[in-house]
Amino acid sequence: MNCDDSRIYLPAYLDDELDVAESLRVQKHLAECGDCRRAQDEQLALRSALRDPDLRAYPSANFSKHIEAAVRRAAKEEARLQRSAWFERLRPGSFRWVAAMATVLIVTTVGAFLVINGLRSSHQQLIASAVLAGHIRSLQADHLVDVPSSDRHTVKPWFQGRLDFSPPVPDLSELGWTLIGGRLDYVDGRPVAVLVYQRRMHNINVFLWPNKGSADDAIRQEDAQGYQILHWNGAEMTYWVVSDLNRAELLELARALRGH
Ligand SMILES: [Zn+2]
Repeated sequence: MNCDDSRIYLPAYLDDELDVAESLRVQKHLAECGDCRRAQDEQLALRSALRDPDLRAYPSANFSKHIEAAVRRAAKEEARLQRSAWFERLRPGSFRWVAAMATVLIVTTVGAFLVINGLRSSHQQLIASAVLAGHIRSLQADHLVDVPSSDRHTVKPWFQGRLDFSPPVPDLSELGWTLIGGRLDYVDGRPVAVLVYQRRMHNINVFLWPNKGSADDAIRQEDAQGYQILHWNGAEMTYWVVSDLNRAELLELARALRGH
């Protein structure tokens, strides 16, 4: 671990949020590095200073009552304005009636648009839960890889004859991602390739299959049950990445995979 890494991990280390292996690596670096020990001392000093009870301000009972009364007054006023604006618009024969009808039309159109959007993303939600389930299953059943190998020249040919496409299997070891093998899985009604990479004992499942739609620029991400899920559509393949590794590092991996 170098100083840059140690500074990134330091707050999580002090909050006791790292796993044992990471925690030991930070500890080891702190033992060897005076600069980072000073950074640790500064953070600890700041934390204890912030615990000083004199820094807290407690509102008086009177102050709270004032705020509650002001909020009630504002809510009443807003309700009154909305009622009168609505009746104004509904006066027949006036331009406002047309405006009201237009509003109804716009609301209907926006509603339809949202439904289409919702359907599309619910399909993605479905895939997201399938890849998450695949990831968890692979760890629980001790069935992480079908072909255990760190050599892309072993993993890539293994998929031949087992899939109707040939997944790219990049060697990212120089970027700190160790390939540990490949696996077949079944997602979205089709057999897919899974590449398994490792970083600091965290397993990363990369699900991929041919992208039939258009490629997009964005990497979508979300977290579910303590796991990070990243997804993007590349020019040739659709990718889904799942791991309990942190989001920042997984984005690094996603960018590396997109570069290949
Ligand atoms: Zn250091």
